[in-house]
Amino acid sequence: MEKILEELSRIVGPQYVSNHPEELFIYARDPGTMEARRPDWVVLPDSTEEVRQVVLLANREKIPIVPLGGGLVLSGLTRALKGGIVMDLKRLNRILEVDEANRYALVEAGTSQGMLQAHLQKHHPRLKHSIPDAPPIATLAGNILIHGSGHLSHAAGFHSDMLNGLEVVLPTGEVARIGSCSASPYWFGRAPLPDLAGLFLGWFGTTGIVTKLAVKLFPNRSLNDVEMFVVEDPDLVPDIIRRLADLQVAEDLTAWMAPKPDWARGFQHVNINYGADSPAELVWKQKAIRASLQKYRDQKIGGFMPLPPPMKKGLLETPQTSLTRFADVRKGGGFEYVGGIMPVSCFPQAYRQGIVVPPGPASSARATA
Ligand SMILES: Cc1cc2nc3c(=O)[nH]c(=O)nc-3n(C[C@H](O)[C@H](O)[C@H](O)COP(=O)(O)OP(=O)(O)OC[C@H]3O[C@@H](n4cnc5c(N)ncnc54)[C@H](O)[C@@H]3O)c2cc1C
Repeated sequence: MEKILEELSRIVGPQYVSNHPEELFIYARDPGTMEARRPDWVVLPDSTEEVRQVVLLANREKIPIVPLGGGLVLSGLTRALKGGIVMDLKRLNRILEVDEANRYALVEAGTSQGMLQAHLQKHHPRLKHSIPDAPPIATLAGNILIHGSGHLSHAAGFHSDMLNGLEVVLPTGEVARIGSCSASPYWFGRAPLPDLAGLFLGWFGTTGIVTKLAVKLFPNRSLNDVEMFVVEDPDLVPDIIRRLADLQVAEDLTAWMAPKPDWARGFQHVNINYGADSPAELVWKQKAIRASLQKYRDQKIGGFMPLPPPMKKGLLETPQTSLTRFADVRKGGGFEYVGGIMPVSCFPQAYRQGIVVPPGPASSARATA
């Protein structure tokens, strides 16, 4: 064990490797409800080459490695089930390029959602990336590798669909590039070669450690608004989503239900986020959204909820801080994801199955087109 510690120290520097129980304590658990599993070492590499050297060492000694981004996935995926190394990638957090013309950002794998958001707001205010409602320290890589979703997912798909390319350290220590970056200096898309990203997306870091990635950027509208449509019958939700999707006006649709606060109990809500570059465009979009659901309003089985300004402000936040406040089990809150990736038509069935278990504080499903 001491020999491994020495070798790891030589690769990343002694201050970036630890086997101290008090430091391993935090790396043994995530904010979810799964029981803790302690790793033997935690390492924080600072370059693709350091990642490669650690992987070569682990391969030689047959030591398992668990890559870690923000550690916020809530499903226990970043716990070291068989001990070994937790590789914390947060030092790999450089924003390498923002290509305004070709609409992508190239970042190192430990770059957090908050870091890219802040960088774009400061240096490229006309552009944004799609942000999950996770706390801002969640990394782009960790989220994309679990097919995450966020504030532009309705129009542009899962976050894995917004990936333009990857640099990955394979278990053999070879470094692979996926996408246009493998054949050119540009990270503009996953074509033209066979798309091998599927070997890594949805594999939770078990097939390679991502060190760089490029994500698509989208226009950051100067005006943003949100509507909330409410019905009682969950069987109506798929048609409501379909109507809104056909309109192609919303940036994001989120169907949700919650036993708290009391006004929300027993109702299905669909949040409709949209943006515009002028007041006239915003009004036009609001009218189009309202017209698309007129049928339900005429039948008096659904309606738009008036949103007081503080509530609207909260709903327009990205990420929504109201969610993060009660997320951490270690601090007395907590919730678990039950795996809500499904076709829109299955929504009522999933809702009914979801409510037979003791209700958690909230549940939501983001609708991708
Ligand atoms: C309050 C709250 C709200 C949330 N809302 C959303 C939401 O709206 N949308 C959503 O999609 N998710 C949401 N989540 C879930 C989760 O936090 C996010 O998906 C988050 O982005 C995961 O990123 P992370 O950096 O924390 O990943 P981690 O938890 O660190 O890692 C996720 C997985 O990827 C692997 N991994 C991480 N980095 C690498 C790498 N560089 N190479 C290879 N494998 C790697 C890990 O081993 C693990 O299996 C939410 C979580 C909370 C707590």
